[in-house]
Amino acid sequence: MTDKNNLFSRRKFVGNTLALVGAGSMMNTAYGFNDSAATSVTVQQIIDTVTKGITVGAGTVDTLKAGKADTVVTGIVTTMFATVEVIRKAIDLKSNFIIAHEPTFYNHTDDVNWLQRDEVYRFKRDLLEQNNIAVWRLHDYIHSFRPDGVLTGVLQALGWEKYYDPSEPRMVKVPPLKLGELISLVKEKLSIETLRFIGDRNQVCERIAVFPGASGGRGQIGALSALKPDVMICGEVAEWETSEYIRDAQAMGRKQSLVVLGHARSEQPGMRWLKEWLQPKYPDLKITHIPSGSPFAFA
Ligand SMILES: [Zn+2]
Repeated sequence: MTDKNNLFSRRKFVGNTLALVGAGSMMNTAYGFNDSAATSVTVQQIIDTVTKGITVGAGTVDTLKAGKADTVVTGIVTTMFATVEVIRKAIDLKSNFIIAHEPTFYNHTDDVNWLQRDEVYRFKRDLLEQNNIAVWRLHDYIHSFRPDGVLTGVLQALGWEKYYDPSEPRMVKVPPLKLGELISLVKEKLSIETLRFIGDRNQVCERIAVFPGASGGRGQIGALSALKPDVMICGEVAEWETSEYIRDAQAMGRKQSLVVLGHARSEQPGMRWLKEWLQPKYPDLKITHIPSGSPFAFA
């Protein structure tokens, strides 16, 4: 909400400044126009803006997966996955820079050596190349924002920002509600039609561990053990790890539930948040959030 207001006031400010410049003043240099007013922002400049002041490990996966760093950006699309469908929509929008949270080519490091002869890989690569689309993965950096950008987006979408506690960033303490009510809430707020859960719909939940994405069994189980949430909501689980831990914990008598949202939907608000965060910095650039949605249907 605040971002939106900033966006509007900033647009107005730039508009006024341009009017003054038009009147022949030297406001241009006096105000020191920043990137936001430039018409030739490159992919690298956008990356520098997003990553400014944030340190991630040397082996970061946040690299260009297609295109070149010196490409002048005609528009930006933020999304969870640079799917073929999202790429086609970006082409329609004449936006040549896609910022995606997850891999483009079906593995964590986007290693494509093993895919060189694969028709699906080649189709997607050619589609990107022929349309001069750059794709940058924004994973490690957005999770290194403080607070975590994806988490912020998810908490905002759920109306839970006010419960964020920096001393326990992955936990929120909400007014007590039943597990069944919690499930209805997350389905509605995150536009999820169907999800899986383990637990009693009548269990009263107050302490909620929020783990969008795929944190891995050890991370999830470690948090269930240490934080003792009433319920964990997560993106995905390996079915032989966290879900079996929950089953045993419940059999032991612990009142602890698990709600599995699906990976794409669980983190999607993070990429919408990025659009709202980035737009005021580049008010003249078309930035669009395209939800890549979930690939699954339910029978
Ligand atoms: Zn993530």
